[in-house]
This record gives sequence, structure tokens and C-alpha cells, in this order.
Amino acid sequence: MSDTELTFYNTLSREKAPFEPIDPSNVRMYACGPTVYDFAHIGNARPIIVFDVLFRLLRSIYGEKHVTYARNITDVDDKINARAAEEYPNLPLNEAIAQVTSHTIKQFHADIAELGVLPPTVEPTCTSHIPQMIAMIEVLIEKGFAYEAEGHALLDTSSVEGYGRLSGRSLDEMIAGARVEVAPYKKNPSDSVLWKPSTDEQPGWDSPWGRGRPGWHIECSAMAKEHLGEVFDIHGGGIDLTFPHHENELAQSCCAHGTDTMAKVWMHNGFLQVEGEKMSKSDGNFITINDLLKTTPGEAIRLAMLNTHYRQPIDWTAKAASQARRTLDNWFTLTDGVKSGTPDPDFIAALRDDMNTPKAISILHELRREASSGNGEAARTLKGSAQFIGLLQLSTKAWTAWRPEGTQIDEKAIRKQIEDRAAAKAAKDFVAADTIRDNLAEQGIILKDSPDGTTWEIAR
Ligand code: AMP
Ligand code: ZN
Repeated sequence: MSDTELTFYNTLSREKAPFEPIDPSNVRMYACGPTVYDFAHIGNARPIIVFDVLFRLLRSIYGEKHVTYARNITDVDDKINARAAEEYPNLPLNEAIAQVTSHTIKQFHADIAELGVLPPTVEPTCTSHIPQMIAMIEVLIEKGFAYEAEGHALLDTSSVEGYGRLSGRSLDEMIAGARVEVAPYKKNPSDSVLWKPSTDEQPGWDSPWGRGRPGWHIECSAMAKEHLGEVFDIHGGGIDLTFPHHENELAQSCCAHGTDTMAKVWMHNGFLQVEGEKMSKSDGNFITINDLLKTTPGEAIRLAMLNTHYRQPIDWTAKAASQARRTLDNWFTLTDGVKSGTPDPDFIAALRDDMNTPKAISILHELRREASSGNGEAARTLKGSAQFIGLLQLSTKAWTAWRPEGTQIDEKAIRKQIEDRAAAKAAKDFVAADTIRDNLAEQGIILKDSPDGTTWEIAR
């Protein structure tokens, strides 16, 4: 592996700096995972893919056994409760919730596996870490950073030194733009909920503040501590999580542990839009990973995503997805039966430079050009490099056999048409031959003539 520098942009320090792990024998990263009430959308796919590339990069540098990646599942959330009540009105709420979360988790795993995402080292759920959350809140109250009010426990943001340092907001700005609930029992409008009371029907656990459930931010603080320790290397998520989620995680963890650092580096991916617009259910441009996989193979989604640098906003377009698919058609053909080689050093250097995937991919395009002109070494390097970022994982055969959902192809009928066309050509009936070709093209079947005969493929 090349020994060039490894650098990351740190949201906290607002600069790109060389990365030094706290302990190279156990490099630890945390990424906020999904709240499991609905299908994950392609915006959610972005951090999953981005931090998967980071995980792969760190594993290649420090060794597979020396990287711990925790990506949680948020399975306690009011959106889950609402969805459960709506979807299973006849079940007791706890059973309905169990249905919603278990289905959603299963679907999430199946969807992201198609995107070539490795399982993280640990995937903690909130429901299995409630005692750790309660313990952390107790410490915060004990140390005077949190208080109890009307069955709630709240973080006293005015007591937290440097509150706002991650998102770069002043307290006033935070209050003004607050997605923080205003409530009469709060000392400061910006105080965030650590614990809140539950009705008998709502999911709840016994605590020193009565039966209730945790707030979102404390969940990640407690799970990160449990699996990665008080101070770890990298914390990631989408840019929208910077405030209030990560600001509060940082405040809670530092105050509870008496440290000034939760994670050395905070990394945030830019937002994803669809065809130039914010994705929203009401505007009808909301795309789930699951739906997209019906028309676009997972690797093409992954490549299209990585064509943009992770910190830049991304505009998801059908055109970019089909372009990525054509690129992969080409790479798969060129690397069919080729042994995977050592990744290109410049390719690795690009990734080590704050995960510059667009630059890394431009090197893959160069390798493709060389491989196309018969350079076998370039084909091997192309395969090894692409596989390094989770591409060219399928066999060429499996890739070629991929069909959009619902496609019904009668191969026998196509072969018969090809024979009929050959016969028409032999009889010099070119009009009939062209009609057969045009009819197939209308069904999305493209014929390719070569000296060895005619083959067909699906139009892209
Ligand atoms: P959520 O389930 O909304 O908490 O989101 C899970 C992850 O997906 C978080 O890291 C979010 O920042 C990220 N995310 C959600 N929407 C988008 C989007 N449109 N573009 C990029 N990342 C997103
Ligand atoms: Zn989180």
C-alpha cells in the first residue's frame, strides 16, 4: 500500500488535515444509521456508500482486523410509533412497532447489500442500549449538565462550554433556526431532550424520571461509547445531522466523560437532490433504494454516487444513473475473466486525499482506455482498483444477465426472429429483414451483426 498521506476534511476544525488514528491497532468510526420506519431513500444511501468506502480504505491501510465500524439502527422514534399505529391499527402498539422495525431492517439490509455495502463491524440498536443511555443521563444530571423537569430529562445547553462549536452556530442562531421544541419546562429554548415520558401505550422503559423513552441524540452518544469508547477516531453522517444531532451528541459525550473530544474527525456528506429538486414525498420525486433497484443495478447506483465528491451536493438524475450503467457495461466486458490486480497507486492516492472518488474514478477511465487497446496489465489494475471501492463485484455474466424488474424476455422468440432475418437477407428481402430488426428495437432489443453472426442485447 502506498505510504502517501491520509487526509480528511474535519467539520469541527473546518480544515483538511492529516489523519492520525488514536490507536492504529483499532481505528474506530461511527456513522449514524437509519431510523427504521420506512424504506430507505437514495439520499440515505449516500452516507451508507460514502462511509463504506471509508471503511474499506481504512481496512486496507490498517488491516481488516484493526478497524471497528459501528453504524447504528434507530429503532426508537416517534415516527416509528406513528407508522406502526397507521399500518397495524388492530395490533397492540408494541407488536405493531416490532413488525415495522423488523421488516424495515430486513429491507434495509437487502437494499444496501445490492449497493455493494459491507456489513459494519457492529450494528447496535437503541432498544438494546437503554440502560447505557439511562446511565449516561444520570451522569449528566449528577455533573450539573442536565436536569429533570416534568418527567423529562433535558440537556442544559447553557452549561455546555463550546456548545455550537461543531455546527458553528451561536446559541441565538440555534434558537432562531431551531428545530428544537419550545416547551415551558425547558430552562433554555435550545435545551434538548435526553429522556421523555411515555404513555402506557407508547414504548417505554423504567427510569429514575419515570417510565419513558430516550431522545434521539443520547442514543448515539451511548451506543458510540459502548462500542467505540469515550473518544474515537471518526464520526460521520449527512450534513443535515450537524445540527442539532451531532452538536448534541458531542456536548453530551464530552460532558458525561469529562473530555473535550468525542471523535477526532467529524465527516459529513453533502445532500442529495433529485433532478434539481429537493426530494419530497408530496412532490412525487421521492425515490427509495428499493424502487431504484428495479430499474438500475446496484453497482450503477454506487458508481453514480461516487462520481461526485462526498462533500459536494449531488443532483441525482436518471441520465447519470444510466451513464454509470454504460460505463460499467464497458468495464465488465473489458475485465471479463481477468484476474484482479493491485490497485493503481494514483487511484489510492486520490482516495487518501479526503476520499476524492471523482479523481479516483477518472483514473479508472484512463485504465479503461489502456485496457481497450489491449493492455492486459491495465485491465487487471482496472479490476483491482474498481473492486477496492466496491465496484466490479459481480461476475461479468451476472452483470450482463441483469434485467430491470418485470422484463420478460423470450430468448427463443428472439433467436427465431434473428434466424428469420438472416433468411430474409439471404433471399435479398432487405425490407423484411429491416422490419424484423426495427420491431425488435421497439421492444428494446438491439441486434448486433458481426462476421460471426448476429447477437442481441437490451437497449439502455
Ligand atoms: P435519517 O433516517 O433521516 O436520520 O437519515 C439517515 C442518514 O441519511 C443520515 O446520515 C442523513 O444525514 C442522511 N440523509 C438523509 N437524507 C439525505 C439526502 N437527501 N442526501 C444525503 N444524505 C441524506
Ligand atoms: Zn447519531
